[in-house]
Amino acid sequence: SLLLAIETSCDETSVAVVRNGKQILSNVISSQIETHRKFGGVVPEIASRKHVETITVMMEAALEQAGITPKELSAVAVTQGPGLVGALLVGGVAAKTYAMALDIPLIGTHHIAGHIYANALVHDIVYPCVALVVSGGHTELVVLEREGSFRIVGRTRDDAVGEAYDKVARALNFPYPGGPHIDRLAIEAEEVIELPRAWLEPDSYDFSLSGLKSAVLAAINQSRMKGETLNTAALARGFQESVIDVLVGKSMRAIQEFGARQLLLCGGVAANRGLRAALATSCEAAGVPLLVPPFELCTDNGAMIGAAAHLKWKSGEFTSLDMKADPLLSLEEWSVEPV
Ligand code: ATP
Ligand code: MG
Ligand code: FE
Repeated sequence: SLLLAIETSCDETSVAVVRNGKQILSNVISSQIETHRKFGGVVPEIASRKHVETITVMMEAALEQAGITPKELSAVAVTQGPGLVGALLVGGVAAKTYAMALDIPLIGTHHIAGHIYANALVHDIVYPCVALVVSGGHTELVVLEREGSFRIVGRTRDDAVGEAYDKVARALNFPYPGGPHIDRLAIEAEEVIELPRAWLEPDSYDFSLSGLKSAVLAAINQSRMKGETLNTAALARGFQESVIDVLVGKSMRAIQEFGARQLLLCGGVAANRGLRAALATSCEAAGVPLLVPPFELCTDNGAMIGAAAHLKWKSGEFTSLDMKADPLLSLEEWSVEPV
């Protein structure tokens, strides 16, 4: 297939042209981070408006960079959900317009399936495998028995990992998005302030980040009230080590229980150097390959949507032109029919 793939679920306007879910002919990304930074996070209304301003230019740029004419396209893929409803609507309208004008199928695509299948753009995935999804809005352990089948075996009960990183970073006065700042601080730290690990019930694959986040915020407040200088690097390291310990521990247990032949790391927090290193070590010891997309394919982009949509192209499951943007779209229900 030759897919035009659109991603507008949050604060990146991105359009890609992808061949056979594998070969990226173009992947243009316009990030709104600078716009949202002064508000300390993504402002939904502004995100939608920015997508409207940018989307047409991005569609044309993606086609031009790919060196193809619209007539060559097999289908138009777009993130249907989850995400910000107003932001999703913009990509949805653009996709429907192209699909209608070109008389080609529309493929409504799941954003998290996209994050997972970003790995397919650079690696050969073997099944069964386990995906650890860590992003701004999601923290999930997903079992893939076969291509395109998704079973969520664990999820966060409160904050997502990226969200916790951003909140901790904000409390330490780092600009949005704060994840990379905490990562750098933690890696450079010489000391560590030990913080608790949220393992939950022994057999649970769920996560909880809010207790840890509160412990960090309490430490910051206490030092301020006492007028002491806080070792922020040691605190960042304590936070990061607690997060990583639990993510790695539960991922390795899932690999065992579900007989996974690979572990796929996906989502924006997959850029975290500490997490990558810790997973690499544990996977090596377990003899299970760790797949991680390159940095630019970890955060939101159109190419990953093209990779996931290709599965629906293969099974012939297309989306009607009255598709609704769905902020709560279910990953499991989006699973592809076996072909
Ligand atoms: P979702 O995919 O759940 O809808 P999103 O698309 O907004 O959410 P992504 O773009 O996948 O999220 O990831 C952004 C998140 O990744 C932010 O919370 C950011 O702080 C975090 N992040 C980026 N780099 C790092 C890093 N090195 N360490 C920790 N977190 C990071
Ligand atoms: Mg983003
Ligand atoms: Fe995302």
